[in-house]
Amino acid sequence: MDLFEYQARDLFAKHDVPVLAGEVIDTPEAAREITERLGGKSVVKAQVKVGGRGKAGGVKLAATPDEAVARATDILGMDIKGHTVHKVMIAETAPEILEEYYVSFLLDRANRTFLSIASVEGGMEIEEVAATRPEAVAKIAIDAIDGVDEAKAREIVEAAKFPAEVADKVANVLVKLWDTFIKSDALLVEVNPLAKVASGEVIALDGKVSLDDNAEFRHDWDELHDKAAANPLEAAAKEKGLNYVKLDGEVGIIGNGAGLVMSTLDVVAYAGEKHGGVKPANFLDIGGGASAQVMANGLEIILGDPDVKSVFVNVFGGITACDEVANGIVQALKLLEDRGEKVEKPLVVRLDGNNAELGRKILTDAAHPLVQRVDTMDGAADKAAELAAAK
Ligand code: GDP
Ligand code: MN
Repeated sequence: MDLFEYQARDLFAKHDVPVLAGEVIDTPEAAREITERLGGKSVVKAQVKVGGRGKAGGVKLAATPDEAVARATDILGMDIKGHTVHKVMIAETAPEILEEYYVSFLLDRANRTFLSIASVEGGMEIEEVAATRPEAVAKIAIDAIDGVDEAKAREIVEAAKFPAEVADKVANVLVKLWDTFIKSDALLVEVNPLAKVASGEVIALDGKVSLDDNAEFRHDWDELHDKAAANPLEAAAKEKGLNYVKLDGEVGIIGNGAGLVMSTLDVVAYAGEKHGGVKPANFLDIGGGASAQVMANGLEIILGDPDVKSVFVNVFGGITACDEVANGIVQALKLLEDRGEKVEKPLVVRLDGNNAELGRKILTDAAHPLVQRVDTMDGAADKAAELAAAK
């Protein structure tokens, strides 16, 4: 999950990374009172999850509370690289900025380690600096066990050639930033710019944080989710504890086991080429021991997707045998009908593995008018694609 700048700012503050005061608002008029409280001046900053806001006109100084309202009016509703601005942060203005640096920690998957990137040429996008002046960007690997202590922070400061007069302060920020990175289970924490201001202090003026969703169970991140941007089907699936990802095709997919579902997506996309280019509409893994209840929940989400024209249920019986799954499907359809959900889309079911014969017999005997059995994965994918194309 990527955070907005104001959320990153709050996280930094919690871990003693030096930041400026700021508050987030969604109506221009609210900028007045905050700016008054900040001493009459402020910076109005677009809150969108994309870089380069400054260049796009999404970061503006306001010399008076009236001006802050005017700038907030300009920026709210603006489009920055395809992101509409719904919120702005009204931040304390930095004392005169003398220099702008770049520092970050991230997970370096390719090298199976953590990485620190630092440069004294911050402010603009680091990718640009790395491309035009690679010697200005220091990359230091961080051992996952040792982390970043005072000494490691100094090593980064030296490698990036920070000026002597800010060395202590930058090293201190790096230690705090590493603390933020580890304690928050982040995949990325980035400060750009880390500004040296007239007083000699260094302050994080902009923050980018990406959290590791796999670690959410040990945090309280409810507040951080951007509910306005979430896909409603994904949100509903999440509430039901389902492993669901919306895609842009027409064939709804349910399978048991992430690997099987991934290959089902491939097989359906391939079969779809013969049927006018229909594609999978979603990823949904209902897991190993899926009950009728879970099957019903999964079907409800998929059938609720207006893009879905047909559904492919692809199950390989393992610990949960095919007869249980077949009963699950029959009960799930009944459950949905009892709930008043109209099931109108055709289902293609492929059962194989443990107790396949018995499972298939259960489906045949149930003779649900919308359910067709096809016993091979390729055949079922082709049938589901054909049905979706025919709609
Ligand atoms: P980005 O363009 O999306 O990375 O947004 P930033 O928050 O980094 O802002 C862009 C630029 O605006 C920074 O590099 C600074 O030069 C400037 N800026 C940001 N905050 C302040 C501030 O409080 N005071 C002043 N004077 N400039 C700021
Ligand atoms: Mn920035």
